[in-house]
Amino acid sequence: MIYSPGKSFAEQMDREDPLRGFREKFHYPDQHRGKKCIYLCGNSLGLQPKSTREHINKELERWQLQGVEGWFDKEDPWVTYAETLSEPMARIVGAEEHEVAVMNSLTVNLHLILSAFYKPTKERYKILIESDAFPSDRYAFESQVGLHGFDPVDGILEVTPDEGTIISTEKINKVISERGHEIAIVLLGGVNYYTGQWFDIPEITRSAHNEGCLVGWDLAHAAGNVPLNLHGDDVDFAAWCNYKYLNSGPGSIAGVFIHERFHGEAGMPGLAGWWGQKLDSRFNMRKPWDPAEGAKGWVISTPTILALASVRSSLAVFEEAGMPRIREKSVRLTGYLEYLLSNLQTDRISLITPKDPTSRGAQLSIRVNGADKNLFETLSNKGIVADWREPDVIRVAPAPLYNSYMDVGEFVEILEDEI
Ligand SMILES: *Cc1c(COP(=O)(O)O)cnc(C)c1O
Repeated sequence: MIYSPGKSFAEQMDREDPLRGFREKFHYPDQHRGKKCIYLCGNSLGLQPKSTREHINKELERWQLQGVEGWFDKEDPWVTYAETLSEPMARIVGAEEHEVAVMNSLTVNLHLILSAFYKPTKERYKILIESDAFPSDRYAFESQVGLHGFDPVDGILEVTPDEGTIISTEKINKVISERGHEIAIVLLGGVNYYTGQWFDIPEITRSAHNEGCLVGWDLAHAAGNVPLNLHGDDVDFAAWCNYKYLNSGPGSIAGVFIHERFHGEAGMPGLAGWWGQKLDSRFNMRKPWDPAEGAKGWVISTPTILALASVRSSLAVFEEAGMPRIREKSVRLTGYLEYLLSNLQTDRISLITPKDPTSRGAQLSIRVNGADKNLFETLSNKGIVADWREPDVIRVAPAPLYNSYMDVGEFVEILEDEI
């Protein structure tokens, strides 16, 4: 792929883009702070599919017309509404349908999963995370370690970069082979939220299994962004949110993956609730707890149908586009962004994201030497929606479903003016 700069190139790429029709399926904001909006923040909150309102309205209407009968509607009962999402969701993360459930939100799900998977012993109690792991994950894992009577500081083992910000697979494998006997669970972010590094999930999973560790992945920044193959890679469990690349709306319901080899095992699912009960006995109300098979058994509570409607709407867009085409465009679009950045006449800019497309998704994290939040404010005032991380990093993520090559070109032009 040869990239060349310039407006006409971007225009041509947009014309030839097989996914060009998808931007129209989203509410792309016209304006930001009075200027033409360039939205590059799908890593934080994906834009709203136009179909979402209709999906939510449909459920409001059913509630209005049917009341409680909606749960057992003949065509589309609420009781199995969440289950209808497992299949399209499973396609996105590379799982079997029965290994996936859509439920709760991400940090809550990490706790639920750890309630069953984290069984620390005196010898093996540590949780391995990457440096610059998302704070919520760290808080959750520290509290889990503490809950089991271990010292939270000692219980979290952090793998750090050799130098700079990128953590090589070799370094991770080295830590795992040297200290694996202390590690109960390896639990990294599939794509790190800060650096945008996409870790080698199959390789790290394999080496951790070799040392007897369990392996889970937080896929908040990976699901809907990069191709995943959780079942084939033999991952033990995973959790993700659906509001970033998956466009299901602020705080939308999240997803979990539990590998089928744990289905039916003693102590699985971890915590019980009636919504994990088999459907045919769930409403008998007196049976002993008899969980549904697979990931469904992990669902504890009545699902929020209005919120699931937005997940359904978004997954339909993903079904139509397909992850292979989304990823193909993503590699080009982010490659174009990298190309334009690397050609800026400045030595103030460097990337903390890997240059190898197989080690990153859509996001590039740009370090701007000597910049402070004022730079970001100025960019915002010129219509750019991106994300600032102290002390000097701008995260931008062109989302292939609704961003264009022109968006990328215009962003770099504005950035160039400001530095
Ligand atoms: C976005 C994100 C979260 C957010 O967690 P919620 O429970 O949805 O608030 C957690 N972990 C990672 C790695 C994230 O990127």
